[in-house]
Amino acid sequence: MTKKNNFNAYSIIAKKRDGKSLTADEINWMVNGLVSGEVEQYQMTALLMAIYLNGMSVSETAALTDSMLYSGKTLKFKGENVVDKHSTGGVGDKASFVLGPIAAACGVKVPMMAGRGLGHTGGTVDKVESIKGFKTALTLEQFKKQLDKEKIVLIGQTKDIAPADKIIYGLRDVTATVESIPLITASIMSKKLAEGANGIVMDIKTGEGAFMSDIKNAKALAKSLRDTAKRFDKRMVTYITDMNQPLGKYVGNSLEIIESIETLKGNGPKDLTDISVKLAGAMIYIAKKASSLKEGEMMAIESIKNGKALEVFRRLIKVQGGDDKVIDDYSRLPLAKIITSFKASKSGYISSIACKEMGLHCVALGGGRNKASDKVDLGVGFIFNKKVGDKVTKGESLVEIYHNKNQAAVVKDIISSMGKEIKIAQSKVASPKLIFEIKEI
Ligand code: URA
Repeated sequence: MTKKNNFNAYSIIAKKRDGKSLTADEINWMVNGLVSGEVEQYQMTALLMAIYLNGMSVSETAALTDSMLYSGKTLKFKGENVVDKHSTGGVGDKASFVLGPIAAACGVKVPMMAGRGLGHTGGTVDKVESIKGFKTALTLEQFKKQLDKEKIVLIGQTKDIAPADKIIYGLRDVTATVESIPLITASIMSKKLAEGANGIVMDIKTGEGAFMSDIKNAKALAKSLRDTAKRFDKRMVTYITDMNQPLGKYVGNSLEIIESIETLKGNGPKDLTDISVKLAGAMIYIAKKASSLKEGEMMAIESIKNGKALEVFRRLIKVQGGDDKVIDDYSRLPLAKIITSFKASKSGYISSIACKEMGLHCVALGGGRNKASDKVDLGVGFIFNKKVGDKVTKGESLVEIYHNKNQAAVVKDIISSMGKEIKIAQSKVASPKLIFEIKEI
């Protein structure tokens, strides 16, 4: 049992387990203890599960956010044009690779500090590491310098910025404690506040493939994030968007890089293009480079049309040590060599795609982690030839599964599951709504 300052991990865990509120000092003591090694990771894991089950009040959430925020260094940038975007995560959500370059091309400084895969969702850092040589571990000095010079930088969580989140994020990923409003609020806001952005655009995903599966919880999370931003006098726009099917058509690390580049070239699928334009438009607006969300969106569309956003992405890859030739030659990505099709068992219209399950299938192929130490396979994944609302003909390929030679058994299981998880109706089905709520503070 860990003891100091009259606190000990056992009694703090037991207090939360029994549904009582923790004081700011108790929360702070646990978080600092985790970072210093005085609190064991298994003790924090127990506390996370108790928080998951019993929730946290507004003031407990604020205390947790603050102690995670100040667990490391904090950056500060001058000017209003430093704006980041964060998504709560979903399947096929690669919008950061599109909207970051768009916003930077429109004069926003974009300090992207991103995460790895979490649960069934992919992570921006894993995806970008599909590009040979791309370095996501920059020092804070390099991070600041690059932001000033290039207007965009993309790094992973570092031990300097919100180190408590780095540990807690990894623990939650493998202990079924992700879907919790206070834990998501503290995780996202500690990172975003520490990295020094002056404005934040939040994409809160809702639906079967999101951590917030229903709209009521998504709205509560959006409010919790806005309340935290308000406390720190930051501008924020929250979007609640659909995650009842994968975003775009490509799921998997290398595959998502290809789809992002195609979207920057103007050939992207409608849902990914629309979301990227909306969120980038909001970044441009809160950076005060546009006078309305609409004007920001128009600027975003123009930066795709005139090729400037694509050139920003090319340059980002190059300055971070990556192979920028991938922009013109996708064979330079480590894509899996074998493609097996999942075919339609009947004709009709796609009525639903069990989104979370598709993410879990990608993890089963090795595209995500089952435990923190797992190495991710950057080449595996899926291309969804059909999405909800699309007409299909019996025997047509609905999904192309990218996999390796030794994975025949896993692929067989995936195909058998997809038969139940991708539903086909006889009558027409409408395409789902993409955006449910937009709120600004
Ligand atoms: N993204 C984060 O950074 N943290 C979460 O908890 C969920 C999504």
